[in-house]
Amino acid sequence: MEKQGIVSNIQKFSVHDGPGIRSVIFLKGCPLRCQWCANPENIAMQPQLMVHQTRCIGCGLCVKACKQGAVYLRDGILGLHRELCRNCGDCAKVCPSQARVYKGDLMTPEDARCVIDRDLPFYRNSGGGVTFSGGEPLLYPVFITEIAREYKVQGLHTAVETCGCVPWECFELISPWIDLFLYDVKFIDSAKHKQHCAMGNELILDNLRKLCQRSHVVIRIPIIPGINDTKQDLEAMAEFLSGLGDGIESVHCLPYHNMGISKYEALGIPYPLPAVELPSAAHMEAIRQLFAANGLKVQTGG
Ligand code: SF4
Ligand code: SF4
Repeated sequence: MEKQGIVSNIQKFSVHDGPGIRSVIFLKGCPLRCQWCANPENIAMQPQLMVHQTRCIGCGLCVKACKQGAVYLRDGILGLHRELCRNCGDCAKVCPSQARVYKGDLMTPEDARCVIDRDLPFYRNSGGGVTFSGGEPLLYPVFITEIAREYKVQGLHTAVETCGCVPWECFELISPWIDLFLYDVKFIDSAKHKQHCAMGNELILDNLRKLCQRSHVVIRIPIIPGINDTKQDLEAMAEFLSGLGDGIESVHCLPYHNMGISKYEALGIPYPLPAVELPSAAHMEAIRQLFAANGLKVQTGG
């Protein structure tokens, strides 16, 4: 297993994804293709160029930097011939306004710790620590273990956000060093899971059953109107989760949002989810009550 990780971002001073103030390490690569994914820059494992047109100040430096002739400025409008682009990242290195960003740095655990260590006093004073997210961070179990072990020994809090679609051995390797798993569940029906996420969910649910026996787990359910929020879907989910017993600390129902659409534009790929409405507060409250009625500790939002 590789010791290094391909990191798209280390987000500092996060107050989500675990208790206290945290750093969140976003790793690239995911086995699923959920249509509503809000972090499409973390689906592919390889580094990727993102182009944010609205940040461009028209300096033209990227045109000169691109040896492939893939970038052009015409009448002050920035353009990219994606078919010519070799994904080298040279244009992003010279861009002064973050209009071009190259996502994906190969890092050792030591590299990542150098970045995170700068804020150690904030983690200690707030009961926070480090969260691994993605993409699917468990595609890098050795990288995670090396970092999490170091921080857990120091008394900091460690968390992993996972889609669960990895071999059980990955969980076995990292779980001694992880205080909290934030575990995504999208469907109980495997055929629906395959339809909307490109793979069935047998492995995901099997791993969850085992993980609940040994670790602290918070379930995260994205609520996607018309996709996974029928009465039948939600009742099946509530029944399954309540059957897992005390291993589930709580359930977080996350209302669908479409704030990731601009990232798809920046990557030059179409947004895969057909238009859906945002769930209303009343709908989310009804869902919260349904889970609570099944004996689960539940909240809306993460
Ligand atoms: S990533 Fe490389 S090839 Fe692609 S536009 Fe930028 S400089 Fe050109
Ligand atoms: S280098 Fe950045 S700011 Fe300058 S033209 Fe290219 S994208 Fe725009």
